[in-house]
Amino acid sequence: MTRPTQTTASTCCYCGVGCGVLIEHDGEHITGVQGDPQHPANYGRLCSKGSTLHLTGDLAARALYPELRLGKGLARARTDWDGALDHAANVFAETIREHGPDSVAFYISGQLLTEDYYAFNKLARALIGTNNIDSNSRLCMSSAVVGYKRSLGADAPPCSYEDIEQSHCLLIAGSNMAYAHPVLFRRLEAAKAHRPDMKVIVVDPRRTDTCELADLHLAILPGTDVALFHGILHILLWEGWIDRAFIDAHTEGFDALKKLVRDYTPAAVAEICGISVDNLQLCTELIGKAPSFLSLWCMGLNQSSAGSAKNSALINLHLATGQIGRVGAGPFSLTGQPNAMGGRETGSLANLLPGHREAGNAAHRAEVAGYWGVDRLPEQPGLSAIELFEAVRVGKIKALWIACTNPAQSMPDQTRIHDALAACPFVVVQEAFFTTETCRFADLLLPAASWGEKEGSVTNSERRISHVRRAVRAPAEARPDWAIVCDFARRLDPLLRPGLPSLFDFADPAALFEEYKQLTAGRDLDLSGISHALLDDLGPQQWPFPAGATRGTARLYGDGVFPTASGRAQFVADPYRAAQEQREARYSLTLNTGRLRDQWHGMSRTGTAAQLFGHVEEATLSLHPDELQRRRLASGDLVKLRSRRGSLILPVQADDNIRPGQAFLPMHWGDRFLKGLGTNVLTLPAFDPLSKQPELKHAGVEVDKV
Ligand code: SF4
Repeated sequence: MTRPTQTTASTCCYCGVGCGVLIEHDGEHITGVQGDPQHPANYGRLCSKGSTLHLTGDLAARALYPELRLGKGLARARTDWDGALDHAANVFAETIREHGPDSVAFYISGQLLTEDYYAFNKLARALIGTNNIDSNSRLCMSSAVVGYKRSLGADAPPCSYEDIEQSHCLLIAGSNMAYAHPVLFRRLEAAKAHRPDMKVIVVDPRRTDTCELADLHLAILPGTDVALFHGILHILLWEGWIDRAFIDAHTEGFDALKKLVRDYTPAAVAEICGISVDNLQLCTELIGKAPSFLSLWCMGLNQSSAGSAKNSALINLHLATGQIGRVGAGPFSLTGQPNAMGGRETGSLANLLPGHREAGNAAHRAEVAGYWGVDRLPEQPGLSAIELFEAVRVGKIKALWIACTNPAQSMPDQTRIHDALAACPFVVVQEAFFTTETCRFADLLLPAASWGEKEGSVTNSERRISHVRRAVRAPAEARPDWAIVCDFARRLDPLLRPGLPSLFDFADPAALFEEYKQLTAGRDLDLSGISHALLDDLGPQQWPFPAGATRGTARLYGDGVFPTASGRAQFVADPYRAAQEQREARYSLTLNTGRLRDQWHGMSRTGTAAQLFGHVEEATLSLHPDELQRRRLASGDLVKLRSRRGSLILPVQADDNIRPGQAFLPMHWGDRFLKGLGTNVLTLPAFDPLSKQPELKHAGVEVDKV
C-alpha cells in the first residue's frame, strides 16, 4: 500500500550555515528533501549536498545493531542494548575505580545535537568527574573561540547573515566559501549582483571558486595572515583611516599594538606574504574607506599553529576602524560543522563548562556543580584532541568513547592515531555508519540514529537555534545519541554513586534542553527564554534570548559595551610567527588541505551517493604546472606524496590556481579509498598554544613519480 507523503521541517546536517529543510517521507522512509522557504538561513535554497540528503542514508552502510568483542583479536558479535550498555558501564566503572576518573575520555562531535552534547558533558564532568571530554570542534573552530574571547570577551559571533548582504566591503580570509558554505555564498552572490558597488576581497593562497566573486584576490603565501593583517593596520594608521573615537571609548591595548605594527611596513609585509605593495595598499583602501566592513573566515585561519593570533589580528582591524556592532559590519567566523556552536554553548571542549563557563574557573565549577547537585566538578584540566589521543597512545587513557566522529580519518598524523586506537584497552564507537575508519577499532559499536531520525536543536554560525525534528524512526536497533548516553549513564550512576538518585532522569530531548538552558541564564549567551515549543511557534531564533524575550538578537555590541572585565574590547598584539614546517630541500612543497564542493568530512554519508562523485571522482593532488614539469610528470600520473610522517600513492593534476611551491589535496579521503592511511597521514600534530587547534593546512611534503 502506498502511504501518503508527509513533510517534516528540520535542518541540514552538514555545514554551519544551518539551512532549513523539509523532509519528505511516508512515515517510514525518507523519500525527498526540499529547502525550507521559511527558514531564515536559506529561504528555500539548498546546495548540492543538502539537496541530496535523502539519497545518502544507504542502509548497507548503516550500523544497525550493537556489536561487542571481548578481545582485541576477535571479531565483534551482535549483542543487545542491555548487554552492550551493562558491559560498557562495568568496564568504565572498573577502570575509574582502578585508575581514577582521568583514565577514561570522551571524544565527541560538532555533528551532535545540543541535547546530545549536554548529556555527554554531564556524564563526563558530574557523574565520572573528568574534564577529558573534547570534540572535533577542536579541529574546526577552537581558534575562533579563543580569538573572540581574547578580543571581545565572549565566544559570540556578533553578526547575522543579513549583514553579509548589507555590507559595503567584505574580506573573506582562509575560506573557500563557495564550496564550504555554498548557500551563504549564493546569498552573497545575489547581493553583489544587486549592489555591484559592494567590494569583495578574498585572501587565500589558492585561486578558488570563491575568487570568482572577488574584486581583489590576495594570494598570500600560506600561513602569513597575521603579517597581512598587521600590514593593513599599519597602512590604516598611516592614512588616518582609523576610528579614534571608537578606540578611545570602547577598547584597550591600542598603544602596544600600534608599536608592534610599526615594523609591518608595506614593503616588509609584501615580501612576507608574497603579494605586491600596490595590492596591499588597495586592500587597505577598500577596507579603510568602506562605510561598512565585514570579515568572514574559516579553516584557513583556524587550522593553524598561529590560529589564535590570526583571529585576533583580524578582529583588531574591526576594532581599529569601529566596524563592529553596526549593520553590515563586524568579524564573522563561518562555523564548519552544523552544531559546533551548540557544542561550545554546552561546554563540549575540554576547557569549557556549560553556559560559556571555564572548567579552570573555581566559581564557574561551583555554579555548575550546585546546579547539577554534585559536591564538586573536577579541577584537573581536561585533554584537548591531540593531547587526548596521545594519552591514549601511551596508555594513560584506558577507556575511550567516540561519538559521531571519525578520528581515524580526520586527526592529523594518522599513524599515531591508529596506533593509539589499536592500543586502547576499551574503545566504544557510537556511530550511524559502520563504514568509517574508526569503527574498525571499536570493541563496542553502538548504532546511532542519523539525519531525519532524531529530535533536538542546533545553533548555526549566526547564533540561530533551530528545532531539529524527527521524520522517521531510526533503522533496526539504532537509537538517538542522547538516549544512548542517558541509558549508559543510568547504568553507570549506581556503580559510581550507589544509593543516590540518578542524574539522568530525562524523558526526551526537550527535558534535556529545559535543564541545560537554565545554565545559560544571565550569561552572555542567555537562551533561557527558548524551548522546543517556542521554536515551533516563532521559528528559529538567535541568542541571546533571555526568559521573557519575544525575539532573538540579530547583532551584538551595538552599545559599544563588551563582555570583558572592563567592558572594553581588547587589542591583541601578537607578532607574526611562521608555520611550523617550512619548505626545505627534502620537502620542497607546502601542502594545503581543504574541502570539495560535494563531499562532507570523511564521506561516511556523502560517499554513499554516486552523484556526489560527479564533481570530483577521486582524491587527486593538485600542483602548479611548473612543478609537474620540473618532476617530468603529467596530469594523471600516479605519484608518491610523502611528508615526515607518512606517504600516499595517488594521481596528480596540473592546476594553475595554486602557486609553484604549493600543493593541494582534498581532506575527505581516508584509507577506505586511498593506498595509505588517507590525507591526514601527511599532516602534523603541531597545534596553537592557546586554542590547541592543530595545523591541518600546512605541512612540508615532496612528490616522487612511482
Ligand atoms: Fe547543508 Fe550547508 Fe549546503 Fe546549507 S549550505 S544545504 S547547511 S551543506
